[in-house]
Amino acid sequence: MTMTDLRERCEGCSGCSLSQTRTKLVFGVGPEDAEVLFVGEGPGQQEDLSGEPFVGAAGQLLDDMLCIIDLGRDNCYIANIVKCRPPQNRDPSDEEQNACYPWLEQQIALLNPKIIVCLGRISAMRLIRPDFRITREHGQWFSRNGVPIMAMYHPSALLRDPSKRPETFHDLKTLQKKVLEMCDRTP
Ligand code: SF4
Repeated sequence: MTMTDLRERCEGCSGCSLSQTRTKLVFGVGPEDAEVLFVGEGPGQQEDLSGEPFVGAAGQLLDDMLCIIDLGRDNCYIANIVKCRPPQNRDPSDEEQNACYPWLEQQIALLNPKIIVCLGRISAMRLIRPDFRITREHGQWFSRNGVPIMAMYHPSALLRDPSKRPETFHDLKTLQKKVLEMCDRTP
């Protein structure tokens, strides 16, 4: 199965109640041979309307962050823990995350990334550890089935609290070092 096949199967998903309120399902974006995978929480209003992850102000900030370390949408894959927008941008419930997670697992299996980066608490709690503390553990490396994984603050959190940006710059440099160590094709 290819990522395109998986996307086609996913587009009609009614695995949880978010299917009833979504405008567009946000599957993910990026090259199918990307070596670095970023995983956010779930679509917001702009993403729900466009079908693309990380658009609007948070998406622009993410693009700016990646640009600092020579990464971008042309050489990374970007997805979310849930693919349909939770109403009023609330956190996705455990039930919704559980329903959607198998799609992400299949994406990860197809992509076979060399590095995974969680954007925000919800993603880190799902992919690293249920009791992950983003304020204490962002920027640290962990292993997920042998794949290096770290978490950074979600760009929306950085928009709300710019005082977190210096720490995030440090995390980006940590990521850049790992990319240089682990990746063949990514700058
Ligand atoms: S959030 Fe995930 S499980 Fe729920 S309907 Fe959307 S794609 Fe399906």
